[in-house]
This record gives sequence, C-alpha cells and structure tokens, in this order.
Amino acid sequence: MEVVTYSRNVFLPLTNACRNRCAYCGFRSDNPRLMDEKEVLDLLRKARNAKEALFTFGEKPEVYDEIKNKLKTMGYSSFLDYIVAMNKMAIENGFLPHTNAGILDKSELRKLKPYNASMGLMLEQAVELDCHKNSPGKKPEVRLKMIEDAGKLKIPFTTGILVGIGEKEYDREYSIEVIAEIHKNYEHIQEVIIQNFSPKKGTEMENFSPPTIEEMLETVKMARKVLPKDITIQIPPNLVDDLYPFIKAGVRDLGGISDVTPDYINPEHPWPTIQKIERRLKGEVLLRERLPIYPKYVKLGWFGEEIGWLIKKLSDGDGYANSGL
Ligand code: SF4
Repeated sequence: MEVVTYSRNVFLPLTNACRNRCAYCGFRSDNPRLMDEKEVLDLLRKARNAKEALFTFGEKPEVYDEIKNKLKTMGYSSFLDYIVAMNKMAIENGFLPHTNAGILDKSELRKLKPYNASMGLMLEQAVELDCHKNSPGKKPEVRLKMIEDAGKLKIPFTTGILVGIGEKEYDREYSIEVIAEIHKNYEHIQEVIIQNFSPKKGTEMENFSPPTIEEMLETVKMARKVLPKDITIQIPPNLVDDLYPFIKAGVRDLGGISDVTPDYINPEHPWPTIQKIERRLKGEVLLRERLPIYPKYVKLGWFGEEIGWLIKKLSDGDGYANSGL
C-alpha cells in the first residue's frame, strides 16, 4: 500500500505586511499587523498535537514604517532578529520551525538555518506573469537564486508552483524542469507543492477561473515524470475535494494540517481533519505523519545543533514523526 504523508502544524502568520502586491492575494493588507510574542505563544500553547511551527508571512515587511516602529517597541533591531526569536520560542515549546519568509539573501538564510527543520519558497512560475507586475519579489530570477542559495547551504527545502495564475501549460512544465535542474545540483528539495490558484473576493483576479481538476491532475502527472524520484509531490488537501485521483497521479504528501489554525492564505478552504482524510482514503493508502524535515534529511543529518535534540525526540527510527508522542 502506498504511504502518503502529512505534518501536524500550527500556522503562525507573523505579519500581513508585504512589499509585493500580487494580483490574486487576499492575505496582504495596507493596514498591516505584526503578531506580538504573546500571540505567538498563545497559538503554540493551543497546538499541543502539532510538531511543526509553520511561519508564513509577507515579504520584507520592514519597508513599512509602522512595522519598523513596532519591532523597535518590541525590542528588535530587525525583522530577521524577530523571526529568529519566534523560531526559538517555537523550539523551546517543542515545535520544529519551517519558515516561509519570502525572499531572503544567503546571509539571512544562513542566520535562520540553525533554527529551522526546513524552509520554503514557492517558485510559483519560472516566467514573468502579469499578476506579478507589482511584485519585485516574484521575479523568477530572484526566486531561483534563493532556492539555489538554500541548496548551497544544505537547507531541506520546499518549493512548488501555483497553477492558474495566467501561465501557459508549457510554462508549468518549464517551471518544474527548472526545479528539477536545481535539485540535480544541490539535492535539497524535499517536496514540490502543486497548488491551484483559488480566486479571492476583492482582488484583481477575483473573476478569474481556477484551474480545473483535469488540469491539476495533468500537472501532477507531468511533474511526477519530470522531477527526480526523491522529490515528493504535495497537494494541499483543503484545495481539492477528491484526493485519491491525485494520489494515483503521483501525490505522496498532503502538507501541513492544523486543528488549531486556519489556512490564512486560503481561509475560505478549511483543513479537513486527519480523521476525515483517513475515512476518505481508507484502504487505499497508508497515512503517515512526518516532521517538517523529510526522513531522508533526518538520516543525512541536514539540521543544526539548535534543533538536533528536538528532531531526535520527535522522530521515529525511520525519520518520520513519532506518532506515540
Ligand atoms: S501572495 Fe505573498 S508575496 Fe504576494 S502580495 Fe500576498 S503575501 Fe505578498
């Protein structure tokens, strides 16, 4: 029976301030907020089942004075120092951080690496698209450089494509080929997310049609053919109803699922519970909990001193999550 993995997480959207303005985004705000330490701690304390602290938030929020001032009031000299402090808080509370901070340079990645079991940046598409015309951080060359830098630093990495944002079918294939090529050089990409665009009310793209299930299935099949076998394909289980056809097409991971926090990027799509997924896939696959770092990288020891003890505590002998905890 096929093994399909997932991670139990708590989603920590540190800020919705973002220098980019993607035409489909319903997360970014012009009246941005920054979570304070108590808010982060409260969420961590509620998520006793989770092993992953998923830090996903807007890119380079310090371009806004209100964020800079709030950081100063909280005693942080930079947003990066604040991320490190929140990562440490997660670790102290028994969670393995996975940070998606948008574009970071190599020195910033190096600073976050010791506190993160893995990190991520969606490539989205390796071509220039209209929906990104006001998003300097979505330039393909900028994103590809960061994915490569993470490889040079041996950071287990998550990336992926966003399907249905104005790209052509051949752009999707090209984007997956580019990811495959980078992985051949650095071997650090643990998973590739194939994510469907989901229109949000009040955004420039609210009337755009999302990709069809057939298009998504074709994209997964194509990705499975193009990507090296050691990269797992993930599909977000709250964005498709019928998971089994996707598993037949090559999906082997369902990403992070939280019973405490919503998907802040797609709040209109609640997470299914693990029990519900188990019921839907009963007898077809074996569901297995993993950590934010994949078993391969646990075995390779691609993690720093700061979290090595916690990975050992939370993993089983195969490098998956110790489900007895
Ligand atoms: S999609 Fe992400 S990068 Fe784009 S504006 Fe929204 S938060 Fe910023």
